[in-house]
Amino acid sequence: MARIDVFTIFPGLIEHHAEHSLIGRARAAGVVDIRTHDLRAATTDVHHAVDDAPFGGGAGMVLAPGPVFDAVEALQPPRPLLLLGPGGRRFDQATARHLAEVSVTRGFSLLCGRYEGVDERIVEHLVDGVVSIGDYVLAGGEVAAMVVIEAVVRLVPGVVGNASSIDHDSFSGGDAGGLLEEPQFTRPAEFRGWAVPEVLRSGDHGRIASWRRAASLDHTLRKRPDLIAARGGLSDAEVRLLADHGYPCPSTGALDEESDAP
Ligand code: SAH
Repeated sequence: MARIDVFTIFPGLIEHHAEHSLIGRARAAGVVDIRTHDLRAATTDVHHAVDDAPFGGGAGMVLAPGPVFDAVEALQPPRPLLLLGPGGRRFDQATARHLAEVSVTRGFSLLCGRYEGVDERIVEHLVDGVVSIGDYVLAGGEVAAMVVIEAVVRLVPGVVGNASSIDHDSFSGGDAGGLLEEPQFTRPAEFRGWAVPEVLRSGDHGRIASWRRAASLDHTLRKRPDLIAARGGLSDAEVRLLADHGYPCPSTGALDEESDAP
């Protein structure tokens, strides 16, 4: 069973998220074991304070080392223990895949910061790494932990029924080859005058597979040309595939400029 432990001052936030949908089902089926731990549980003062004013002055409060070290040392959670923080290593699909493996073999743990952040001695002497979910600042690590948990849990074997669907996801190494997924369509075949690509209704599975590959390449070229550049541009076969399905195909040199990404 996959195991993920979470240290937070708001265990209810994580619990609520982990009760529903895919994660809730995976827990109920005994495929994943998510345990939340209240950082205040280890405090002994009447207010259960976990924060204190920063040395040197300045705005806001800092998550103090005492309660965090106490909580972690009392429980000896599975390691690596990863702190969520904006200055950490950027979380991505490759990290999610790695953590999904780790969650099954030995488990891992997350520590959610709050306030203006955590005392640096927690970073230096307690955790094994820091993970950021992007270049923006949240009020706490809980939402970031939920992002990590959700991305990881759906990769745990047995959680998503059809394993080929996660293999095919955007950014996946599998048959997606690090590209974005192609656009998806469902019924009706025509909605407000906008028709689904004809090939998808042709019943020709070979042609559909080849269209999907071309559409995925085209989508990635337009939205995330950096992903195409990172894999060394397009192969001759891919250039032919795009042309074959009527997609415009930029010369490789134009990749850097031609982006409508924000
Ligand atoms: N003052 C800090 C930000 C603290 S935000 C700074 O400027 O760097 C409070 C807590 O929210 C952090 O301790 C961290 O646990 C969480 N957090 C905020 N932004 C995050 C992000 N982008 N990724 C992961 N965790 C984040």
